[in-house]
Amino acid sequence: MGHLDNLKLVIRRGCERTVVRVGDVEVGGNRVVVIAGPCAVESWNQLLSTAEFVKSQGASMLRGGAFKPRTSPYSFQGLGVKGLRLLAKVRDKVGLPIVTEVMAPEDVKLVSEYADVLQIGARNMQNFKLLIEVGRADKPVLLKRGLSATVEEWLCSAEYILKEGNGQVILCERGIRTFERLTRNTLDLSSIPIVKSVSHLPVIVDPSHGTGRRELVKPMAKAAVAAGADGIMVEVHPNPDEALSDGPQSLRFKDFAELMREITPIVEAVGRRL
Ligand code: PEP
Ligand code: MN
Repeated sequence: MGHLDNLKLVIRRGCERTVVRVGDVEVGGNRVVVIAGPCAVESWNQLLSTAEFVKSQGASMLRGGAFKPRTSPYSFQGLGVKGLRLLAKVRDKVGLPIVTEVMAPEDVKLVSEYADVLQIGARNMQNFKLLIEVGRADKPVLLKRGLSATVEEWLCSAEYILKEGNGQVILCERGIRTFERLTRNTLDLSSIPIVKSVSHLPVIVDPSHGTGRRELVKPMAKAAVAAGADGIMVEVHPNPDEALSDGPQSLRFKDFAELMREITPIVEAVGRRL
């Protein structure tokens, strides 16, 4: 990589690595972390059944959007505060920490009252006021790579968060926009070893948004683990055909069970544990 002159705090010095702690879960340690759940929180039953299932298969965190950054203003925008309440109730019942997106600086306080991890979506990677605000929050942050962001720009965004005093940042590769149209995005797995060599921050991969296609999620999740990712985040829905967002890329329960089974030998091959 060329110049990384704009980075100070995210740069790795020696062999020290950041381990982000979310309850009992450690991101960036020996274990490969699996975050799973629906794209959007839709209902109590949808969220609870998904949470129970993914937990039974070994997931260690639950994802689900309450505030959804949708390309079209006419698409489902998420349940908002009602979604946050459902997430918190399901966490209390099932015992999985929750990862959920915060879209606006003024919502950071509210979302922090419910979330265990604050997600910054790809579309907001360079919302600098939002980065500063989560940098001042007392919660770990999952920072997605922007749709057209270079690795350096992505790390610069992490630098904003660290600069405000919040060192608990997990990077998330979710694919970038290229000329390819058979996939929703092009999942840039080369960013994983690059980030691991340049930075001390943990990095995970989202093959759901990275491909946009259910049948590609499992192979790319395996490839992500093989490339050294500290975890994966995948979308799972009890009935993807009826999902209010991202149905085509959402795994059915049986697909998720298969994914967990099939990544296990890859995780072991790279000397890690699930
Ligand atoms: C998401 O994970 O819910 C999401 C909206 O993804 P991205 O920001 O990567 O598009
Ligand atoms: Mn989604």
